[in-house]
Amino acid sequence: MTEISDPRHYDLEALRARVRTERGGEVDDSIPQLANADPDLCGVALCLPDGTVRASADSRVAFSVQSAVKPFLFALALLDTDGEALERVGIEPTGESFDAIKLESGTGRPPNPMVNAGALLTASLVDGSDAEARSHRIARGLAAFAGRELEVDEDVAHNEHLLGDRNHALAHLMRAEGTLTPSADDAVAVYARACATLVDAETLAVMGATLALGGVNPRTGERTVPARVARDVVSVMATCGVYDGSGRWMRAVGIPAKSSVSGAIVLAVPGRLGAAVISPPLDAQGTSVRGHLMSEALSEELGVHSFAVGSVRPTP
Ligand code: GLN
Repeated sequence: MTEISDPRHYDLEALRARVRTERGGEVDDSIPQLANADPDLCGVALCLPDGTVRASADSRVAFSVQSAVKPFLFALALLDTDGEALERVGIEPTGESFDAIKLESGTGRPPNPMVNAGALLTASLVDGSDAEARSHRIARGLAAFAGRELEVDEDVAHNEHLLGDRNHALAHLMRAEGTLTPSADDAVAVYARACATLVDAETLAVMGATLALGGVNPRTGERTVPARVARDVVSVMATCGVYDGSGRWMRAVGIPAKSSVSGAIVLAVPGRLGAAVISPPLDAQGTSVRGHLMSEALSEELGVHSFAVGSVRPTP
């Protein structure tokens, strides 16, 4: 049996060293800024309930948050609509890629808030009378989860807005179905800006911990969202957070999480800790290859797989 380690003493540097030799996966090439990411970047960070952050090398290197922002957009939409966002977006896994051009049949709603269609919608539901006001509101909300102000990479925001043809298509489709209220272009602009928010693994671990701890940021003590909202968001991360890799992820890692094309993954172990990993090469489902390996090791070695009774060895 694997011995369970205490997260306060767990050797994150050794974990990083173990996976660094892994060469699998491809860096996303949808925009130049992502294509130019350093494939050797590799970091892992934990945030504990007392606010302690423990991190490996590379954990302060900034990257655009990309889809790891989606749980937080969902949280802000739930908060600002007083739960009505749950009527506007589904919560079922799709079994399809993150940018599939598909809405829920019958309702025209996006299938869930963790795929692009859903995040385009949740980003449009936050408070604010126009795109600029909604972006401002999202920046304020993300800062509360992070415990600090976050910058936006303007080039990433611009390119994603310009080059995100599938996101424009999804937004137009939701307009045609009557499920998206603002203009398609405004919806894409706000979503692209949220994806272009700069974080690092340490910051993302704090954001994950805030969800894991019922909405209270363990470093600032600020309540970001009601406990019920945090619960709902973490539930949907568990079922939909890794797109069409969510089933495989839940068996192997067993921790609610959200993957992203930057190679970051944010993880929330309810009541226990938040974590984040970053390593740009991605597998076919858009999940960081080294990030998956580090998450699996953390789950087993910290004994935090949701469904493991005691410590278990992985199946060969
Ligand atoms: N901004 C990216 C997009 O919309 C985010 C996708 C992702 O991280 N999976 O294409």
